[in-house]
Amino acid sequence: MSYPFELEVRQEIVKAARLMHSRSLIAGHDGNISVRVGPGKLVCTPSGVNKGFLEEKDLVLVDLDGKLLRGGSEPSSEIRMHLQVYRKRPDVGCVIHAHPPHCVACTLVGIRLTEPVVPEAAFVLGAVPTAPYATPGTDEVPRSIEPYIATCRGVLLERHGSLTVGADVREAYNRLEALEHVAQLLFLARNLGDVPPLSQTQVEGLKAVVTARGLPWGYPDSKGSPGLTDVIVQKVIEKLRDGR
Ligand SMILES: [Zn+2]
Repeated sequence: MSYPFELEVRQEIVKAARLMHSRSLIAGHDGNISVRVGPGKLVCTPSGVNKGFLEEKDLVLVDLDGKLLRGGSEPSSEIRMHLQVYRKRPDVGCVIHAHPPHCVACTLVGIRLTEPVVPEAAFVLGAVPTAPYATPGTDEVPRSIEPYIATCRGVLLERHGSLTVGADVREAYNRLEALEHVAQLLFLARNLGDVPPLSQTQVEGLKAVVTARGLPWGYPDSKGSPGLTDVIVQKVIEKLRDGR
């Protein structure tokens, strides 16, 4: 396995951190980024730094137990989530945790991002499950993501934020932007009306294109979502049953 150069990694982390801040995917000291730079070695963002002001020299080097190897600050307090991912996923080179507002809002009202509502999400993300609420700064947080992280490209953390992974900083960051974009679309659409799922035929067509490009189909295999007509018929049946 080859690893990226630490100097380049530091530049990429700073770029992504400032983007996260400027695009309101985090606020204040929120969010953290880590990148694997060697066997059992990660460069990660420090604790207590506003990412809009982050500089390369602020970053720290830790081992896979979160122990500080080099740097002038403590690693992020949420590093335990990252460590959990790296232990389970040898394919992951970067982990990004953010507090994207539309994503968090979706978790507050129980909206799930586990279906391909828009086609782009199927290419970039696949299903993004929501891990149950966990007390920040405790081992509950890494435990909460454990059932999901083996296969997913992203996980929502209930009432908290997001976790996206990738081979490198750009892939993990792209997934974060895509995730917040989908959540924002759902937020807007739900304010306008009901959001019908893709029909089974549409899902099958999308799956064929995604897999033809050599990408994984990131959704559980099922019989597919009902079409718009099925949804309308179901609503009529419910109204008749309720005597309305
Ligand atoms: Zn957080």
